[in-house]
Amino acid sequence: MTNLPLASQPSLAIAQGRGGAVATVDERATQVGIDVLKRGGNAVDAAVAAAAAVGVTDPFSAGIGGGGFMVIYLKQSDRLITLDGREQAPASTTVELFRDPETEELLPFWPHRISSGRAVGVPGTVLEWAEALNRYGTLSLAEALQPAIALAESGFEVDHTFAHQVALNQSRFAAFTTTRALYLPGGQPPAVGSRFSNPDLAHTYRLLAEQGVNTFYRGQIAAAIARTVQHPPTVAEPPFPVLPGGLTLTDLDRYEVRVRPPTVTPYRGYTLYSMGLPSSGGLTTGSILGLLAGFDLGASDPTKAWHTVIEAERLAFADRNAYLGDPEYVDVPVAGLQSAAYLQTRRSHLPDRAPAVDIRVAPGNPLPYQNDPSPSLTTYQPPAPSTEPEGGSTTHLVTSDRWGNIVSYTFTLESIGGSGMVVPGYGFLLNNELTDFDPVAPHPNAPEPGKRPRSSMAPTIAHSPQGDWLAFGSPGGPTIITTVAGLAVNLIDFGLAMPEAIAAPRLSQRNTGTTQVDSGLEQTAIGQGLRALGHELEPMAEIGAAVGLVVRPDGEMIAAAEPQRRGGGVAMVVRPQ
Ligand code: GLU
Repeated sequence: MTNLPLASQPSLAIAQGRGGAVATVDERATQVGIDVLKRGGNAVDAAVAAAAAVGVTDPFSAGIGGGGFMVIYLKQSDRLITLDGREQAPASTTVELFRDPETEELLPFWPHRISSGRAVGVPGTVLEWAEALNRYGTLSLAEALQPAIALAESGFEVDHTFAHQVALNQSRFAAFTTTRALYLPGGQPPAVGSRFSNPDLAHTYRLLAEQGVNTFYRGQIAAAIARTVQHPPTVAEPPFPVLPGGLTLTDLDRYEVRVRPPTVTPYRGYTLYSMGLPSSGGLTTGSILGLLAGFDLGASDPTKAWHTVIEAERLAFADRNAYLGDPEYVDVPVAGLQSAAYLQTRRSHLPDRAPAVDIRVAPGNPLPYQNDPSPSLTTYQPPAPSTEPEGGSTTHLVTSDRWGNIVSYTFTLESIGGSGMVVPGYGFLLNNELTDFDPVAPHPNAPEPGKRPRSSMAPTIAHSPQGDWLAFGSPGGPTIITTVAGLAVNLIDFGLAMPEAIAAPRLSQRNTGTTQVDSGLEQTAIGQGLRALGHELEPMAEIGAAVGLVVRPDGEMIAAAEPQRRGGGVAMVVRPQ
């Protein structure tokens, strides 16, 4: 990486310099993070303060009503840590979670499943921020929340992304009195360019600042969350049935953030550290790269190289869908899936041409590669490949500081707008993360009491052979995995600089008939070449919205955000070059 070309165009999406760096989807949030660094805060402080600001300016992607995963590199102790702030199923959850109580049929995904009390998991974000600060930060939660409180109170200009995300959800938001009042003034999405403030959210953040996390998990905010889930604040005659959920004060009281080791993936001299279970993000990007390690992509014809990436993604998703779930509930064969011998057998399944569109490839069998002294006695038959929809919301941010610490953080509400329910009087949307469960049992990712639904989030930090540290990640539901794997391929195999890797066109294959591509890619020579190899390409408006940064051994930093996707993000450094 050290000699990679730097982007020459001045742009909000690229920054280069020293002293600390931040990249998020939003200019105001990035500025909040940079201000914290300038005042002497570290990367963890900046990440939490910027995240709280994102919760104000991009409230449909992420916020305190949801959950997330944070990967932290601590320079002084040379350690990588992950924090699991994933939402958790209430104790009352059963495998029937998403069945119609009368017909026992599965509820339609949109809007019934996603806009219900049943979809709401115990939010983890507030405790994750507090744990991150307590363990690794220098600011208190109260200090980290101040800039976001000011932003929520004084308001900000509505941009196209904000207005568009309300418009996407207009019929759903109109079903809830609170959401309608906040986000549909006069029955319509706020106009682009108008000023939007959220005094209720400012009040909520202030309560957190003054009273700490107990108010959220045990106090007045907890009571309001449980009441909202059990008695959704619907209008008199909502246009679809809104089922209540069973989340209680006890569920909130019991919630814990888990500190977990990262997944570790070696790839062509780099080491990638990412999020382990219950996220499938780190393991599945690891499987894709593990399969690709057997091919010299950089020396291949580009069409052939991307064909190989697509087929590796297909195989990795077959295994992901069959085996991965919350490790506190399922004996996931992680060692087998990661073993070189298993990856070698899977590699032999990589075809020269795309399989027929109606083919879903079967998962492999990693169990013989486990070497368990006491193996499971259950004979598990992997389920048929799932056709369940998975959402596509979320946001990612990265920070680094003058000491060399780095944070890579993905957090979410699941759907854009989560469950659609704003907690009355508190100004934040509740998640619908439990729709990430597979609703048909038996399955490693079936709903169970206290379980965390399998995620795709893959906040990643990587170390290069030259001593550079890189951090990157993306939103986009299951496309997060293919976006992160594609970023690694573009950075490592094709030698792109971080800004170019983030801007490059993407493709995503997840063991389905068609391969999704950023619209336009299908017209290129590579697109035509892939079609000639039998790939059915499905153009998408956009895939992902990544941000990333690079810290060089001499302390120079490059931060990069999307130049276009989701309206473009913003990167800044403390001391621009
Ligand atoms: N719920 C998704 C996950 O955890 C993230 C939301 C999204 O990006 O769709 O993988």
